[in-house]
Amino acid sequence: MNNVEIKNAKVLIGGKFEKTAVYISDGRITFSKPKGKSDIIDATGALVLPSLFDIHTHLRCPGQEYKEDLDSVTKAAVHGGYTDISSMPNTSPPADNEALINYIKLEGAVFKRCRIHPFGTLTLGSKGERLSRMGLMKKAGAVGVTDDGKCISNGTIMMRAMEYADTHGLFIMDHAEDHDISANGVLNEGVVSEKLGLPGIPEIAETIVIKRDIEISRYLNIPMHITHVSTKRGAELILAAKKDGIKITFDVTPHHLAFTDEDCLSFDTNFKVNPPLRLDSDRTFLIDLIKKELIDAIGTDHAPHADFEKEYPFDRAPFGISSLDTAFCLLYATLTVENKIPLEKWIGLISSAPRKLLGLRPSELEEGQRANFFIFHPKNEWKVDRKTIYSKGKNTPLQGKKIKGEVLYTFNNGKMVYPF
Ligand SMILES: [Zn+2]
Repeated sequence: MNNVEIKNAKVLIGGKFEKTAVYISDGRITFSKPKGKSDIIDATGALVLPSLFDIHTHLRCPGQEYKEDLDSVTKAAVHGGYTDISSMPNTSPPADNEALINYIKLEGAVFKRCRIHPFGTLTLGSKGERLSRMGLMKKAGAVGVTDDGKCISNGTIMMRAMEYADTHGLFIMDHAEDHDISANGVLNEGVVSEKLGLPGIPEIAETIVIKRDIEISRYLNIPMHITHVSTKRGAELILAAKKDGIKITFDVTPHHLAFTDEDCLSFDTNFKVNPPLRLDSDRTFLIDLIKKELIDAIGTDHAPHADFEKEYPFDRAPFGISSLDTAFCLLYATLTVENKIPLEKWIGLISSAPRKLLGLRPSELEEGQRANFFIFHPKNEWKVDRKTIYSKGKNTPLQGKKIKGEVLYTFNNGKMVYPF
């Protein structure tokens, strides 16, 4: 295999951009010209960035391949700059046993595009009743456990599940939602839900569970990660708990940073997501936390659906946004272009930070490291449409819109995995 020379790019090394050539030789990064022939990529105006890691991807397989399959999800990932994704276990059947964890790891590797790090469920069938086969799932390669999509409402079961997961060294993630309070709500409860005459999901559906989880984590002294925190109040509770020494971490999604419940006024079901898009004051508070470096990670909550499902009226369409193809571009537009937060200040939240949370090796642009990186052109403009995104789920609010910033190439272990 020829070496690769990437010239004229700015490379993010140790948190700072440097103008230098990067080479790939034997699948590894080097900054000095290797012997032998090189294929040359002229990356004038572009940035070379460490590859991304998504801590929250809904694979939809096995069981719902009409929404997404392993071929399409791995294409969407590398198109978005990701070489690693963590899969949520709420598949059909749910990934609550070692056979399914094995299946995801082995079948996902067939396409040789990106690595899939599976989560297993906390409870059998994500029913919130009996504990899943955590020890065997860990042996099969599960990185963590969660009943994401649902929340375990029974506090005793949550405590037992956490203790069991902890003895197996599994990362514990919770989707914080009181299902009795959120009930049949379809968007944030507030002025917008009243205007539309649709049932709302109040902030407290999230915060009441965050408060419970903080107390469980404190009482058991076991770390807990709350995923897709959408409210200012929820984030404030977690930050206060951290100050008290409680081992609690959290992530936010790109769409909660970019959109608000006012976007639902369009009745576009691509804005229907769980937890729902909140108020602008929630959104700007979360962006401020990124400025202050107080958020632990950004996870996409990539949730692809088929067209016919999202074509239902707003109150009947399923929750979820297809995100992997566009997450990085949306974050760049929201955080760097709109809010002037330098890219080097937040990219770690979707590259090194989630890897560290899960106890995996970070991918950095360093001499001798495996060549896991992508090349991003911040000025190129492209149109998001059915043909330009590779996920089977075309359910993104960016559909039909132009977006600035384009992933040109993605390399995984020195191999170009995007473009295909
Ligand atoms: Zn969730």
